[in-house]
Amino acid sequence: MIFSSKLIEDAVQEFSKLPGIGKKTALRMVLHLLKMEKEEVNGFSGALSRMRNEICFCNTCHNISDSDQCTICASPGRNKSQVCVVETIRDVIAIESTQQYNGLYHVLGGILSPLDGIGPEQLNVASLHERVKNEEVEELIMALSPTIEGDTTVYYIARQMSELPIRITTIARGISFGGELEYADEMTLARSIAKRLPIDNYVSMKGS
Ligand SMILES: [Zn+2]
Repeated sequence: MIFSSKLIEDAVQEFSKLPGIGKKTALRMVLHLLKMEKEEVNGFSGALSRMRNEICFCNTCHNISDSDQCTICASPGRNKSQVCVVETIRDVIAIESTQQYNGLYHVLGGILSPLDGIGPEQLNVASLHERVKNEEVEELIMALSPTIEGDTTVYYIARQMSELPIRITTIARGISFGGELEYADEMTLARSIAKRLPIDNYVSMKGS
């Protein structure tokens, strides 16, 4: 693609760094921005840089937040005895979208994957242990990928928590629930949480 303007070329270059955006789509977006009022475009770029510069992570659950504590942890209406353990903030968004879960979250930041060099130290596991020890948590709902790495992470955490008086459950897997949480439809995801199982049952189910 040959441009008569270095400014356009740079903007197209930036847009095409986004996932799923090729050069042609990037050019369409850039030309669209060019047609917009300057104030509107400044508002657009301002929102992006504020989002990137000012976003922080919740000190408690590691969810994205505008301050030290996210709105979920800060809400007095949430059930503090339940903590749903997920891999990423995308999973929090997916579960929140079901509007069927009223507990808290804990974002691990991934799952155990020794081959990729991801051990417990790379994940927010120690802070989960601290939360369970010091807060009024009664149940950990493990909502991780149905993969070997996901299962390994569930068992690692269960072992870590074995001396603590809590219930550990895993979300049930619906028929269409083959992949990551964010791709599950909201009904399936809501049902998976409602029909969660103690982890012992989960083991025997997978083994049968
Ligand atoms: Zn939080």
